Amino acid sequence: MTEFIALAELCEKLETTKKRLAMIEYASDFLQKLNPDEVEPAVSMLLGRAFPKWDQRVLEVSWATLSGILGRLTDADWSVFREAFNKTGDVGAAAKALFESSRIKKQATLFGEKPLTVLKVRKTFEAIAETSGHGSRERKERLLETLLGAAKPLEAKYIVKILIGEMRTGFHEGLMEVTVSKTFNLPLRLVQHATMLTGDIGEVAAIAKTRGEEGIKRLGFRLFKPVKPMLAQTAKDAKEALEELGGEAAFEYKLDGARIQVHKSGSVVKVFSRRLTDVTDSLPEIVEQVQNEVRAKDAILEGEVIAVGEDGNPMLFQHLMRRFRRVHEIEEMTKEVPVRLYLFDVLYVDGENLVSLPYTERRKKLAEIAPCIPLTKQIVTKDVEVAARFLETAMSEGHEGLVAKKLDSPYTPGVRGKRWFKIKPVLEPLDLVIVAAEYGYGRRHGWLSDYYLAAKDEETGKFLVVGKTFKGLTDEEIATMTRRLKGLTLKDERRRVIVAPKIVVEVAYNEIQKSPKYECGMALRFARITRIRDDKTPEEADTIKKVREIYQKQFEKKANY
Ligand code: AMP
Repeated sequence: MTEFIALAELCEKLETTKKRLAMIEYASDFLQKLNPDEVEPAVSMLLGRAFPKWDQRVLEVSWATLSGILGRLTDADWSVFREAFNKTGDVGAAAKALFESSRIKKQATLFGEKPLTVLKVRKTFEAIAETSGHGSRERKERLLETLLGAAKPLEAKYIVKILIGEMRTGFHEGLMEVTVSKTFNLPLRLVQHATMLTGDIGEVAAIAKTRGEEGIKRLGFRLFKPVKPMLAQTAKDAKEALEELGGEAAFEYKLDGARIQVHKSGSVVKVFSRRLTDVTDSLPEIVEQVQNEVRAKDAILEGEVIAVGEDGNPMLFQHLMRRFRRVHEIEEMTKEVPVRLYLFDVLYVDGENLVSLPYTERRKKLAEIAPCIPLTKQIVTKDVEVAARFLETAMSEGHEGLVAKKLDSPYTPGVRGKRWFKIKPVLEPLDLVIVAAEYGYGRRHGWLSDYYLAAKDEETGKFLVVGKTFKGLTDEEIATMTRRLKGLTLKDERRRVIVAPKIVVEVAYNEIQKSPKYECGMALRFARITRIRDDKTPEEADTIKKVREIYQKQFEKKANY
């Protein structure tokens, strides 16, 4: 049985090693010594996950709960914690400092003096994730308290890191693939391919250990284990996309909805989101549609779900998200926010893996097995003008743009390659004023890196916040911005400073949403700073009136709600 301390010590070594090869060697030594049933749990934990990637279980331990436990287990002096956190920006390291400084560390009764093992930690995580119903919070707390009570300071550091999902050792999935390939003597490409198929490197490592190369080669798609979606790069316009894709390409409507991966086996259908979470319960009508209308026993399909208004036009994205968030009274919601599925790819049908087929063949197959479910609108052309007109039509119908796809391309899960290009004309950027800023976490601690963006309400003269972002600036720009904002501070609220409205930035965004969060009732979605506009004064920045105009304009092409 491998002790958990061995895993924690390995993580420490990985954290301080900068050399890739050395990291791989340390990890490989460790993997070699594991028992077969320890491989997947250890690999998952080394990557900061309590469970394999496709696993839907979550620990859901809040910081309030965790800090309560840390407090109870130690005679907590939180100044030690804060000091360590300020120094490292790392909650795990701060927890370790707390454990070390504590004069009395209450020992757990359940595990006694026995050292923690990798499997014991995994089993406790499982028990925490599976606790539900009345009194589950207390039960979770007890389990976690027992686990941390049995942990040495270094073990506590990594248990906390796994709990909050932030390993930060620099040892990422790509390096783990190399390590697995080296440890078990397998070609790297085979390991990568197997990870794509199973959706989890931990499981690949476990199969490599028990069944070797033959076992890995026999791996195929497995129904109900979602695979990472293929991603798109950005092209400026249809011309650029055509050039990138060799002069001829398919162009599909880019629907502004949520991507789903549908798995079907007989009458059992499950729907997974882009992040591979199971969203089956939120989309009962899609499940029914697939059950009734897909002419294959087994299939893995991909498509986009959009919310549509009574006029059949797409609704703003935020309404669709209400569907995904809803867990209760789904039936009511299906009436309030009707959704529609458009399919655009097929990965697997009745035992046949289709990912290596060319796009055009997969699309044909898709039309064959789902003749009654709409596919994303599509054209195939060499002509820039034709593609540009198609883009205009898509936009005029309220869609986001187009996705251009290479005709002979395979489906490459998880890869953002040069085979799909999204063409997405953006809304005009806004010039906004920074009125407050928050300190960042981790690498950005000590820097004011999260900015509140405001537009002036000309009627009252007040600057009203319309969004918040930590995206777009380089580290250097953030450092300079921090200095400038500190000089403009009106009020220091510890984590946040309110500043005089002086600095203007150009901000891009995807949509303006209705939002109760801010006084003006609107919020920018996916705001990111594109430029610092020192050439503009706050008086010249955009106004609330302008923001409202753009907000209204969105509805001309979308269903109002
Ligand atoms: P983005 O999220 O901006 O990176 O754009 C890629 C996303 O566009 C995909 O993940 C899908 O959710 C979405 N999408 C909409 N229509 C299509 C389509 N016809 N083909 C592929 N992806 C699409």
